[in-house]
This record gives sequence, C-alpha cells and structure tokens, in this order.
Amino acid sequence: MAYISLDELLSSGVSGRRVLVRSDLNVPLEDGKVTDDGRIRASVPVITALADAGARVVVMAHLGRPQGKFRTEFSLVPVVERLRSLVPLTVRMASDVSGDDARKQAGSLVGGEVLVLENLRFDARETSKDNAERDSFAAELAALVGEDGVYVDDAFGAVHRKHASVTDITRHLPAYVGNLVSTELKVLGKLTTNPDHPYVVVLGGAKVSDKLAVIDNLMERADYLLVGGGMVFTFLAAMGHKVGGSMLEADQVETVRGYLDSAEQAGCEFILPTDIVVASRFSADAEHEVLASEDIENATFGASGLGLDIGPTSAESFARHIRSAGTVFWNGPMGVFEFDAFADGTRIVAQALAECDGFTVVGGGDSAAAVRALGFDESSFGHISTGGGASLEYLEGKELPGLMALDRQ
Ligand code: ADP
Ligand code: MG
Repeated sequence: MAYISLDELLSSGVSGRRVLVRSDLNVPLEDGKVTDDGRIRASVPVITALADAGARVVVMAHLGRPQGKFRTEFSLVPVVERLRSLVPLTVRMASDVSGDDARKQAGSLVGGEVLVLENLRFDARETSKDNAERDSFAAELAALVGEDGVYVDDAFGAVHRKHASVTDITRHLPAYVGNLVSTELKVLGKLTTNPDHPYVVVLGGAKVSDKLAVIDNLMERADYLLVGGGMVFTFLAAMGHKVGGSMLEADQVETVRGYLDSAEQAGCEFILPTDIVVASRFSADAEHEVLASEDIENATFGASGLGLDIGPTSAESFARHIRSAGTVFWNGPMGVFEFDAFADGTRIVAQALAECDGFTVVGGGDSAAAVRALGFDESSFGHISTGGGASLEYLEGKELPGLMALDRQ
C-alpha cells in the first residue's frame, strides 16, 4: 500500500495551516486519574513535531465506550491534563466534539498551539453503522480545519475501526500517516513476513473470542504458541478438563479442539500451562492454591474455584521458551496481574521477554500497562505496541479499514 508520510507533509510546509490529528489517547482511568499514560506519551512526538513546525494542531481522540452521549466519566479532561504535563506547548481543550466551542476554539487557534476536542464517541455518528451518518460527522470534523486543512492518522490502536475519524475523514481531507502508525506497521510487517525463528507467540488476557481468531493464522507461522490468561480455560476444557468457575467460552471449545488437532500439521506446538493458581473468588485477597491443570475443581475450598494465573512450573516453562526465541510476540497478561497474588505469571513472562536476545514485541493495552505497572523498563523490549485489537487483526491478515482509507495509489 502507498501511504504519504508525515515527513512529506512537514517538508511541504505546515506553518499556520490547520492539521487534524487522530491520536489514540484511550488510556485507563481510575477515580478520574490516568493510571497508565503510555498511549499519551506515544502520541506526543507527532503532536509536537506539527506544533513545532508552526501548525495549528487539532487533536481528536476517543476514550472508552460512552455510547454516543456526553458522560463526564468519559471526558478527555484528565487526559488533556496529563498531555499538558508532558509537552511544553499551549494545549487548549474544547468542551464539545464538533460543536460551537470546538469551532470557535479551532478558529482562534494560532500556529504552534494545540486544541484537543472532546471524546469523539460522545457523538453517536463516530461509530455509526450508517455510512451517511458517519460521513456527516466526518464533514463537520474536517470543517474545523478549513479549506487548506489536512488530516494525519497517528492512532494505530484505531486503524481496525470503520469509524468517522478513522476512515470517512479521508474523503474530506488530504491524509497523511503519522509516525506511530508507520512504526507499528514496520514492526508488524516484520512479524508477518520474516520473523527470526524460533518464533514464539504468547497469548493471554480476557478477550477470549477476539484472540482465538488470530490463532488460525499464527499457527502457520509460529513455532510455539504459549497460552495463558483467561483463554487457557477454553483450551483446558477442550482437552476434557473441568475448569470450575474459571473464565470459559463454552461455544469456542470445539474450535479450540480443532486448533489443538491441526497444530502439528501446521508445524506449531501449543504449550499449555500444567499448573494453575486457583482462587476461591475473584478478589485480591482471595484464598488460593496451585493445582495441576486437570485438578482445578479439587481445591481445598471447593470445586467452584477460578483460575486467576498460570502456576510457577508453567511460568518457568513459558520463560524457557521465550528466552531462547528469535522472535516473540506477546499479547495478553497471563493472569489477573492487577492483584499482586496473581501477577507472578505475567511478571515471569515479562522478565523472560526482557532477557531474550531476539526481537520482542508486546501488544495489547493491558499487556503494555502490565509491563509498566510491574516496573519493567520499556527499553528492555523491542517494541511495545499501542494497539491491541489492531495489531491482532493485522497479524490475522485482515484488511484494516483505517489503513485502506490512507492508501493513495
Ligand atoms: P490486552 O489489553 O493486553 O489485549 P485483554 O484486554 O485481553 O489484554 O485482557 C486483560 C485482562 O485480562 C486483565 O485485566 C487481566 O486481569 C485479565 N485476565 C488475565 N487472566 C485472567 C484470568 N485467568 N481470569 C480472568 N481475567 C484474566
Ligand atoms: Mg485490554
């Protein structure tokens, strides 16, 4: 595909021009405070490069799923506060998305200043299935940057979405690819075209059905597929084990059995945990024990226990595979790392990636947050991707609507 880079835009001169930037500022919040600012920091270089070049920068982004109406808890206000603390720029904020305030502030913006619009998803048209609705929203957003305005897509985490600010907008403005998107594409391109072997893929997390879909494609390329996190129980069930109250997608058991059966032919080996940390309930201070994967229902506290982490023997086996890999792609925490008692599997896997001499990629919002929350230095990893769903869909070999929209052939 042929994209036009941000560098081309910068060298054509943007001083005084209005530039509409789609950033991915979808960060986790707790009590109105940003708990992991990775995506904000990853968005800073493009915003800064444009402002430094004298552009009038209008940033648009989404946060969570406010279902098309204004809801204070989904406001970008805390995100903008954090952005202000990271850049020495004037960062204004509109109280609406494409309404009176956004228009007024975009109009009075001067070169080198930044205006952030409110959460795009406060407008139901952003994610509408109706093409005309999305297009009318895109037209309003484009109007904010006027006649000689341009669009820069730097929101890798949203390129798999057919949303107004991602796809439709490119019919209204000349479109350029931000550096974050191009870096991600370079890394994922390497993972799909010429990974160094052994190629180890580690999957975990909670979005089970989303992630099962990628396995089909990865089996063909990866040498080892290590499975932990919530999805592991669908695998254990497929092997005939009982999983108590653990996370389980019963309607996916057959599909998973199919994967297990066809792995050998695809030249890929599944490494599943042989032990599990089973808890009496979903809580940070729950009673817990380590049990063999086939014994989950035999805990001393009863048969309804939930597997909340991979056990120590499994974590060590995962770590061995990872340390000797040529390439590692990791998406999804191995357990409920937010609770200390169930963070060991994730910590050991992260540590093994950090020690691996091969090329290591961490994908997924929560995985990236876990790596930082557990105190790892980001530079110990080859690349920390800002896009969870987007990177998985890319690796699945799907066409990503946001990238199609940027293609200028
Ligand atoms: P990512 O954002 O990295 O793609 P997901 O969003 O799929 O990852 O999943 C992250 C969540 O998965 C974390 O909040 C973690 O607590 C949860 N998780 C991991 N293992 C388990 C498990 N065994 N049971 C329930 N939740 C789990
Ligand atoms: Mg997540």
